[in-house]
Amino acid sequence: MIPYASAAAAEAALGRSMTWAEAAWFRYSARTPDYLLYCHNIAILFVVYTVAPLPLALLELRAPPKLTSPYKLQPRVRLSPAAFLRCYKDTARVLLLTVGALQLVSYPAVKMVGIRTGLPLPSLGETAAQLLVYFLVEDYLGYWIHRLLHTGWGYDKIHHVHHEYAAPIGFAAPYAHWAEVIVLGFPAFAGPAIVPCHMTTFWLWFVIRHIEAIDTHSGFNFPFNPTKLIPFYGGSEYHDYHHYVGRRSQSNFASVFTFCDYIYGTDKGYRYHKASLAKLKDGNGASDAFDTSKQD
Ligand SMILES: [Zn+2]
Ligand SMILES: [Zn+2]
Repeated sequence: MIPYASAAAAEAALGRSMTWAEAAWFRYSARTPDYLLYCHNIAILFVVYTVAPLPLALLELRAPPKLTSPYKLQPRVRLSPAAFLRCYKDTARVLLLTVGALQLVSYPAVKMVGIRTGLPLPSLGETAAQLLVYFLVEDYLGYWIHRLLHTGWGYDKIHHVHHEYAAPIGFAAPYAHWAEVIVLGFPAFAGPAIVPCHMTTFWLWFVIRHIEAIDTHSGFNFPFNPTKLIPFYGGSEYHDYHHYVGRRSQSNFASVFTFCDYIYGTDKGYRYHKASLAKLKDGNGASDAFDTSKQD
């Protein structure tokens, strides 16, 4: 809710004219309580979760396998439409019950850390810098939580649910035990808590983070994926390997970048496997990205 009676009052307080984006934000949010603006997050999450994985899901389900197989990381694994739908329904239910419930009670924390809804809107540079910090913080904290979840108790009681998909699909990105969904909410919220932002940046952060997770769980590795231009970005092949190895995996714990695994030595299994695969391809033309014998 913006504390000005009119656009003229807002511009007087800013000391300049509003940009078109600020005028649009003023029109949209001036009479909407901040709590309701915050609750947009759950609706946005559902739209992103429903729409973003759809193109590749349709490609996998409708396109001839010979067309998609060269880009599939595990082309021998193909799920049925019913399996896709079951994944969507199971994940949506957990998201609604956990993220939805969290959303209802976490507003005081959002206010306390200083997520603002007023004017001016942040500049593009400020938004980009904040998103970079959020990615770095989330990647680091998420790395350690994920590593803890691969201890015996953590895996048996919680994390095994996320690993039910040994060959992941986009819809399985947030598929996890409810406790894991809640616990992994903290690394995602830590960045905005350390460097508070505007509500629009807060929404954008969760949108980009979810799209990134859907990308890394897509099961496809396209050579023209623009994320390949991002330095130290893990991507789908990197995380697919973690799912492929499954329970015994002690490699590729980071959710976004590769440097935590490099620094702490938890990418050795992956690098060894890639080297083995390269030799094998030279020898007999293996088609799976991970079709040497399972090892980590
Ligand atoms: Zn894992
Ligand atoms: Zn995963």
